[in-house]
Amino acid sequence: MEKTVVAATGNAHKLTEIRAILCEWNVISAKEAGFFGDVEETGETFVENALLKARAVCASTGIPALADDSGLCVDALGGAPGVYSARYSGGGDAENRKLLLKNLAGEENRRAYFASAVALVFPSGETFVAEGRTYGHILDAEQGERGFGYDSLFYSDDLKKSFGEATEAEKNAVSHRGRALRELEAKL
Ligand code: IMP
Repeated sequence: MEKTVVAATGNAHKLTEIRAILCEWNVISAKEAGFFGDVEETGETFVENALLKARAVCASTGIPALADDSGLCVDALGGAPGVYSARYSGGGDAENRKLLLKNLAGEENRRAYFASAVALVFPSGETFVAEGRTYGHILDAEQGERGFGYDSLFYSDDLKKSFGEATEAEKNAVSHRGRALRELEAKL
């Protein structure tokens, strides 16, 4: 059975990954579904923010909505940037990476993980939530040019290379988003 869902995200990289991971689903973008708004991420957890986004887009479009809220949690920074990963520096991805390297300068403990919470909300109100993590450490300098966000600074324990050096398929096989979405699929 083909499931049509609208991805409650304006992040084109996330949409590409979601489509590749849920390859048997018909995942349409928020714009294709006629949603042009911006949902304020006022939650304190990944799950809260994923639910906020999925509920808003489902209510507006009448189509089952799938949201991912994710981020990078660094041990030596007490779990920061966490839910604030996208807004860490106030600038874009490159500025965020630069600030992360600055805040970790001289720090020996570079352990970190990516976390993703995914929420699928149906017009009936029925809701499914799943979470995934992937572990590694923050490099001293960027490696690789693939991916987005903090990928080029994240050395994956699973892949033994940075997410910036990994192919899309390699990353999706072990990523926080891949794990969360496969768990969600299993729950349905
Ligand atoms: P949000 O879920 O839209 O609030 O933003 C998530 C932010 O976390 C992104 O803008 C990235 O900075 C970071 N992030 C989440 N997942 C990934 C990933 O797979 N690779 C690199 N950065 C990520």
